[in-house]
Parts: sequence; structure tokens; C-alpha cells
Amino acid sequence: MDNCIFCKITRGEIPCYKIHENDKYLAFLDLAHFTEGHTLVIPKKHHTFVWDVDNIGEYYSFAQEIVDHYRNKLGYKYVDSATFGRDVPHSHIHLVPHNGEGSDWESALVSIGDLQKDRDRWLSKEECEETQEKFTLL
Ligand SMILES: [Zn+2]
Repeated sequence: MDNCIFCKITRGEIPCYKIHENDKYLAFLDLAHFTEGHTLVIPKKHHTFVWDVDNIGEYYSFAQEIVDHYRNKLGYKYVDSATFGRDVPHSHIHLVPHNGEGSDWESALVSIGDLQKDRDRWLSKEECEETQEKFTLL
């Protein structure tokens, strides 16, 4: 993917603030951060969605190493995680560390709200039930 911004970061063509890396995955700071330490975790191989990544468990284990670090070493009470898949078309997991209080927490809530605004709509109860019926595996 020649024009993918995250592929360019992986190739070193665009700088980033790396947090963690191995041969398959890379974690770096999201400059449009929700909270201090807001991190993006990406596979080095291009996949559009998180759900397309080969060996997704390995991918999340890599993310977990970072979460463990934030919680156990840095003392964060929470590390919110999210995947939206509608902004940059290269798989990425958002990790948003916070302690559930103060301006960081409030700004995280506002930012997540802003990100979702106009992208999602609430389904009615009927639509939820129809969707559940259509998609359930039970
Ligand atoms: Zn890419």
C-alpha cells in the first residue's frame, strides 16, 4: 500500500513516536491523542481491518504487553481500547490509558464522543432485535 500512512510509518518514511515494536507489530503514540499515552498498535503488514490480521491473538498479545506496562509499571488504573476501522484504512488498536478522573478522563470521553459523532446512529429496539436475530450464532 504505497499511499497508506501507517505503511509509511512502518517503512520509516514518516516518523513516529514508537512505544513498542517487534518483527510483526508496531506501537506508537497517536498525536491526536485522547489522553496522554494514547497509543496506536498496528501490524507491519497492511490489513484494512483488525479482523483481517493474520493470527489476531498474537496481535492482541502484543497489545497486551503494552497494556500490562501501562497498568503495572506506569500505574494506570484503566487502559481503554477501541477499534473503529473507519479513519485510517490500516488495522489499528487504540489504547487510551487514564485513571478515570480529572481532565484526562473528561477529555477522553469528549474525544471518543467526537470521533463517533455523525458516524454512528442509534438503532431502535426493533432494529436491534432484527439485527440480533439476523446475526446470532446461538
Ligand atoms: Zn497500510
